Amino acid sequence: MSSRMASCIFCKIIKGDIPCFKLYESEKTLAFLDINPLSRGHALVIPKFHGEKLTDIPDDHLTELLPIAKKLALATGAKEYNILQNNGRGAHQEVDHVHFHMIPKPNPEEGLGISWPQQ
Ligand code: 5GP
Repeated sequence: MSSRMASCIFCKIIKGDIPCFKLYESEKTLAFLDINPLSRGHALVIPKFHGEKLTDIPDDHLTELLPIAKKLALATGAKEYNILQNNGRGAHQEVDHVHFHMIPKPNPEEGLGISWPQQ
């Protein structure tokens, strides 16, 4: 195991060394709730293969990620949502293990979530 993997917070979550609220797990993929959600149901979908950027991940470890993000979006019942994936500090990546965010847009009429960040 490389030192980057050993110190990777998402690799620790995959190993079970750090707890998470798990939403989905398969041989290659894990999905869990974001610890600092932008809205209720904000989920992260990650490959178990460690890589910092999308281009570091072999294609066969990427295939489930969008279908699972789509299933989670449907599961929240949100009519609007963002699915996004940041690469590099300048692109707002904080955790150096590839992850897709699935962020339901809060519905103000239902009082869901917290306020949406201003762009
Ligand atoms: P990034 O800015 O890298 O695209 O997003 C990283 C995300 O990981 C952030 O939304 C942050 O809240 C989330 N995160 C960081 N550490 C943890 C953790 O230990 N557990 C969980 N569930 N989410 C985390």
